[in-house]
Amino acid sequence: MEVLYRSTRSTEGTVTASQAILKGLAEDGGLFVPQQIPALDVTMDQLAGMSYQETAYEVMKLFFADFTEEELKNCIARAYDDKFDTKEIAPLKKEDGVFYLELFHGATIAFKDMALSILPHLLTTSAKKNHVENEIVILTATSGDTGKAALAGFADVPGTRIIVFYPKNGVSPIQEKQMVTQKGKNTYVVGIKGNFDDAQTGVKKMFGDKELAAEMNQAGFQFSSANSINIGRLVPQVVYYVYAYAKLRAAGELAENEPMNVVVPTGNFGNILAAYYAKNMGVPIAKLICASNDNKVLYDFFQTGEYNRNRDFILTTSPSMDILISSNLERLIYKIAGEDADKNKTLMQSLTTEGKYEITPEMKEKLKDFAGGFATEEEVAKEIARMYETCGYVMDTHTAVASSVYHKYSEESGDHTKTVIASTASPYKFTRSVMDALHKDSGSMTDFELVDELSRISGVKVPAAIEEIRTAPVLHDTVVETADMKKAVKKILGIN
Ligand SMILES: *Cc1c(COP(=O)(O)O)cnc(C)c1O
Repeated sequence: MEVLYRSTRSTEGTVTASQAILKGLAEDGGLFVPQQIPALDVTMDQLAGMSYQETAYEVMKLFFADFTEEELKNCIARAYDDKFDTKEIAPLKKEDGVFYLELFHGATIAFKDMALSILPHLLTTSAKKNHVENEIVILTATSGDTGKAALAGFADVPGTRIIVFYPKNGVSPIQEKQMVTQKGKNTYVVGIKGNFDDAQTGVKKMFGDKELAAEMNQAGFQFSSANSINIGRLVPQVVYYVYAYAKLRAAGELAENEPMNVVVPTGNFGNILAAYYAKNMGVPIAKLICASNDNKVLYDFFQTGEYNRNRDFILTTSPSMDILISSNLERLIYKIAGEDADKNKTLMQSLTTEGKYEITPEMKEKLKDFAGGFATEEEVAKEIARMYETCGYVMDTHTAVASSVYHKYSEESGDHTKTVIASTASPYKFTRSVMDALHKDSGSMTDFELVDELSRISGVKVPAAIEEIRTAPVLHDTVVETADMKKAVKKILGIN
């Protein structure tokens, strides 16, 4: 049966995959979810022999049912090409007995590339399929990595413009440099005087602003979202969990149907939700281990069943996980509420008005596949140093959160199931924090001196993404108050 999508906040109406991709967020503020998560229709043994691109097709054809085979294969071929520095696209590295699924071999050396290299193609294909004449304006709030990956994905894609908002003081210097040096006639980067949640709230408000939508339509524009709430972001992320399992089978690391655990360094809950979808498609995944940094709102949620964002926002060395409202969690809440849109809506309203909600014991019961953990800043630094000392493998701060959480989890639970850790960024993206953890940061070295030093000690070549920005000129320098985000958008689009 062809998969259609509906909103997590209403019982009315369904849309096709291409319509859901175009809209991003549903009009009622809910997130699009498939009516049912489709089961894989090929065996693991078949998948074991497939390339990343072939695996991507097998997964995406089930979710993006209104795309033709040709359209989908075209999108996949344009996304997963030599922008990635390895043919495997998402290689697995076995280090210290654990499998690190390296999701950072794309254009911007972070895992967001996995989805954002294909989203522009899914989106322009969707626009064509639905006879959209307006220019598509991508509006994105970023905690660092999404911004650059989206800019890189959409730069100079005809029929699109992209506007990225980022917290001016909430991203790493290299992340900021990556964004403000972005080329492309259709790219705009705006810093805000606030944190990521402020940026995300501002963007969400604009998506829901009917007056603005009408003004834009009159001027020949319409919004779409590249944030991880877009189903066109989520589904491509399911692929690498299927791929990882199949490759571990192919390598003889897993017996037939032997389960694996997955550990995911989590912020907005998109990546780990994709793993949950993979499990629901039939991939033998046992535990989904949700790893948080000091902003451990998700850890507390899995412990207690209460989601409570009323707490201090902590800036950590893993900024892409510094999030107090994990938007994609809504899709899981909807599912464990028995796909009850009203129930979900009540909880989400409570999150908006009171900053918290509590799920019922029956709902909590359905979270048994998940385990939550968190790592402090000290533990993160220690884990980076430990892995370097034991096997010479240098990981970034986000991956280290997951790695630290994994070791605590397996010690406490005695669960020694084979484990895949989602490795979400190259250490070169967070060089100073990584070098600090390795006690190699003199404090007086520039970011690029540290990059060279990291290359020397790790024996890993400096990625092209970093080389490029060494000397690149700053092309974007706008900074606005959080309250002025809408004004900034109108100015960019020439709407008064
Ligand atoms: C975005 C990001 C995360 C968090 O992923 P979510 O899907 O938002 O949970 C973790 N690590 C890195 C490096 C990221 O860029």
